[in-house]
Amino acid sequence: MDGKLRDNDISHVVEADRAHVWHHLIQHAPWSGTDPKADPRIIVEGRGMRVWDQKGKEHLDGVSGGVWTVNVGYGRERIANAVRDQLIKLPYFAGSAGSIPGALFSEKLISKMPGMSRVYYTNSGSEANEKAFKMVRQIAHKRYGGKKHKILYRDRDYHGTTIACLSAGGQDQRNAQYGPYTPGFVRVPHCLEYRAQWDLEGEEYGIAAANAIEEVILAEGPDTIGALCLEPVTAGGGVIVPPVGYWPRVQEICRKYDILLHIDEVVCGIGRTGTWFGYQHYGVEPDFVTMAKGVASGYAAIACCVTNERVFDMFKDDTTDPMNYFRDISTFGGCTAGPAAALENMAIIEEEDLLGNTVAMGDYMLDQLAALKDKHAVIGDVRGKGLFLGAELVADRATKEPMDEKRVQAVVADCMAQGVIIGATNRSIPGFNNTLCYSPALIATKDDINHLIAATDAALTRVFG
Ligand code: PMP
Repeated sequence: MDGKLRDNDISHVVEADRAHVWHHLIQHAPWSGTDPKADPRIIVEGRGMRVWDQKGKEHLDGVSGGVWTVNVGYGRERIANAVRDQLIKLPYFAGSAGSIPGALFSEKLISKMPGMSRVYYTNSGSEANEKAFKMVRQIAHKRYGGKKHKILYRDRDYHGTTIACLSAGGQDQRNAQYGPYTPGFVRVPHCLEYRAQWDLEGEEYGIAAANAIEEVILAEGPDTIGALCLEPVTAGGGVIVPPVGYWPRVQEICRKYDILLHIDEVVCGIGRTGTWFGYQHYGVEPDFVTMAKGVASGYAAIACCVTNERVFDMFKDDTTDPMNYFRDISTFGGCTAGPAAALENMAIIEEEDLLGNTVAMGDYMLDQLAALKDKHAVIGDVRGKGLFLGAELVADRATKEPMDEKRVQAVVADCMAQGVIIGATNRSIPGFNNTLCYSPALIATKDDINHLIAATDAALTRVFG
């Protein structure tokens, strides 16, 4: 840290924060006292893989800004410069007008997404998902008299924080107190083989998990189902990598019943798993792809709902009908900083071959996690794709009884005390908040990964002996 903030300034910031900021995802009671240890944590500065807090303490960031976002790491001046230049030229214009960075980023993005063709700009992952839900509903009204309107979502998946997204939310602890929910969303089972629901393995397990979706479709009536919305690799629900065989069968089922496939790439999108998008590992051809976090690595707020031409065509097939366009707008979809930052973000990933690094470092880290599993009996399973990894902690390997959430959080806290930030599934799924999560920036080196592993090793030893 360059020491620009003097002690007085810092204590003023901390007091202002304590008095007025309502932080996300946290119980505020401990911060109302005077114990300095309970100060809110304020992140002041970042460079590469590292951030510094208000006390000047350095942390290795193993979660890319807390929630799998800062894919290209901190301190990227070329992104900041591109945003600055664009803001001076034109910060914003919305409505039905386009912008230069909006057009150029769309072209660049679509060049990485064969089969897709249109980019609809929004400002958060939740909103991008809402756009897809609305498109599905409008198609149901236009084509099927409103009948084919139901949207299937999966147990343990998460699609955002709005009421409609929570209606499509498979994490019951997040949803517990915000009902009543929007009708027309129907749950299908998850596909985590470690927590097997069918007595099968590998590809057979994958096919069985996909067939379970078909059972729900048949029970509901295929002519009532408009879309299936899935994360390619489930993130906050426990880093669930789908078994072989799962995705091809899912695609087959969607085609069989004329169900649109919506893939939520808010976490996996733009490199996190070692391909531009998570679905590209599995040869799937989606109708909707939504994305947010990695699109501009958090340097500007930008999200989008990308569709193929088949979906787009349905909104321009009858020019005599004044209701026949997508009757939707997003105010901040007109901010130009987002696509300007996103263009530079993609250029960095290409020029530095960060997809290649993600594959290599992801494989290395998975091996290191497997070695940790050999050492610590509390690790029941390790899994991951690219730099998107998890270690599920259990109280008993034989019964797979999930580890108590408080002890999982104690491991996270111990790493934090060591100056290493890792994550964990957190108050999401009753009984299953037991997976340590890692999502370092795509620039991670072997040294960074060794550091994350060593901190976890020490924390596991301290917490569990
Ligand atoms: N989908 C997934 C898979 C997510 O993980 C998230 C956010 N964690 C969202 C959607 C919602 O994105 P946002 O917070 O930008 O609304």
